[in-house]
Amino acid sequence: MLRRSLLALSRSSTVQQLVTTLPVSGGIVARFVPGETTERAVAATATLAADGLQVTLDHLGEDTLDRAQADRIIDEYVGLLEALAADGLARAAEVSVKLSAVGQALGADGAAVALDNARRICQAARAAGTTVTLDMEDHTTTDATLDALAELRRDFPETGGVVQAYLRRTEADCKDLAAAGSRVRLCKGAYKEPESVAYQGRADVDRSYVRCLKVLMNGAGYPMVATHDPRLIRIADMLAGRSERDAGSYEYQMLYGIRPEEQRRIAGSGKTMRVYVPYGDEWYGYLMRRLAERPQNVAFFARSLVSKG
Ligand SMILES: Cc1cc2nc3c(=O)[nH]c(=O)nc-3n(C[C@H](O)[C@H](O)[C@H](O)COP(=O)(O)OP(=O)(O)OC[C@H]3O[C@@H](n4cnc5c(N)ncnc54)[C@H](O)[C@@H]3O)c2cc1C
Repeated sequence: MLRRSLLALSRSSTVQQLVTTLPVSGGIVARFVPGETTERAVAATATLAADGLQVTLDHLGEDTLDRAQADRIIDEYVGLLEALAADGLARAAEVSVKLSAVGQALGADGAAVALDNARRICQAARAAGTTVTLDMEDHTTTDATLDALAELRRDFPETGGVVQAYLRRTEADCKDLAAAGSRVRLCKGAYKEPESVAYQGRADVDRSYVRCLKVLMNGAGYPMVATHDPRLIRIADMLAGRSERDAGSYEYQMLYGIRPEEQRRIAGSGKTMRVYVPYGDEWYGYLMRRLAERPQNVAFFARSLVSKG
């Protein structure tokens, strides 16, 4: 109930105006977003890499409504990739890209614009010595995003994709994606989706996650297990063992600021742990999705708003 209300609120412009006056440094925002600039993102990457963690960086922004804005976002990613390479961090960090941020929602030719733009980021990533993963957004974009992923992989087979266990279709998508060299991030899914396409109960989502995990771990690809859920991490460990996967043939992923001790514990045990680091000034939608996931964070968030005023 609370999750649904918060996801609905994330679309309210009045609430957005109030919340975005919060300072990014300190308080609830800084807990999930290390900063608004490339410099802050690179500094956060350096700190995580020094602790043996891998990183994927997301320049926050979605629902881009004009080409100029899409171009600015591409410039941002290209600048970030150059900065990572210059600081010797490109082996530790890749980037995550939302197609809606690079033009997917721009009317009839949105899919083509987004694909061209994503290609430019893939080129910059390759030049820097790293890779791109295409984030997955709400279910109305799943087909278009998987189509774009297939196209990009013709020239950039290292490009990663994401599937969401809450969607009923995802086990079948995993079967299609579990091919050699295919990097696939499995997450539960963060959007408010209708029952016609998505499981609504936690237990059903978790069961779907395990079914998808089995397909990916038994397949020939490179599974990226994105969850903070201790039970699912234990099951992933067990399935990886059963499939005789070595530590370099799959990885765990968690969000910046969530279970940081567990992130370091997993990396310290010799497994690959990648931290998803969002940065930039458009942190509102991202923050609201994180709050919706964990009611305990909402009290902290409310206190931030009150103490501000
Ligand atoms: C690297 C990464 C990339 C992602 N990319 C996408 C994407 O492209 N598209 C998309 O829709 N979603 C994405 N997500 C978000 C994802 O879909 C979920 O919304 C999010 O990860 C929360 O789900 P969970 O698996 O952690 O499980 P939850 O059901 O939220 O939590 C399960 C359990 O994890 C533990 N836990 C969770 N949060 C905390 C916390 N703050 N502190 C302590 N314990 C905690 C608790 O034990 C909890 O019971 C991504 C997530 C990650 C980690």
